[in-house]
Amino acid sequence: MSRKFNIAIDGPSGAGKSTIARITADMLGIIYVDTGAIYRSVGLYVLRKGIDSKDRESIIAVLPEIKIEIAHDESGSQRMILNGDDVSAEIRLPAVSIYASDVSAIPEVRSFLLELQRGFAREQSTVMDGRDIGTVVLPDADLKIFLTASPEKRAMRRYLELRGKGIDTTYEDVLKDVQYRDKNDSERAVAPLRPAEDSVIIDTTEYGLEESIAMVYDLIRERMRED
Ligand code: C5P
Repeated sequence: MSRKFNIAIDGPSGAGKSTIARITADMLGIIYVDTGAIYRSVGLYVLRKGIDSKDRESIIAVLPEIKIEIAHDESGSQRMILNGDDVSAEIRLPAVSIYASDVSAIPEVRSFLLELQRGFAREQSTVMDGRDIGTVVLPDADLKIFLTASPEKRAMRRYLELRGKGIDTTYEDVLKDVQYRDKNDSERAVAPLRPAEDSVIIDTTEYGLEESIAMVYDLIRERMRED
């Protein structure tokens, strides 16, 4: 790749963003930044502190205690370091998903994390996924993709993924979680989940993972060639 290239991938939970973003970044030889993991790390900190996820004042008060770093292991996987501890596995627990969604609705939390996210894209080419990458974090991204799928399909994918990791849950609980987070993420006042006007929308309900990856990868290559 001749010049720096930033790709924003947004969409609701379970649309396949992180898997697709990670694999396409790998194919392109550039870094993948999972911003959901950053919100999850804040959610985990708040949960560990015993603070209610709706208690805005207490959450804002502890923000200065939080130091988040992103490392990459030998295989290129993103590791989340929260105040020196690797929390990459713990942030995937369902309780942390709800906390992440709640804390992410607080404007002070979003602005606290904004510079961290922008810093990655300034330094290198990235595929960054989240909810507001194309609209807020990287409004000048070279390509913006909005990935979506039906809530039922997304819940089923997430359920199978959690089961695969040995996390005990039911499809019904995962569907409730998906619906809760969809509502929270799209109705919040600040940086709500919505496609950027200049994004390409891809609905993966009827597509398997390989087909979805191929579609995203082709779009990226096409945009790069136009340059
Ligand atoms: O993507 P993931 O499901 O790991 O994200 C966890 C939560 O973090 C989401 O439900 C969403 O509320 C929040 N989030 C966000 N903005 C981002 C990424 C994630 O608000 N850019």
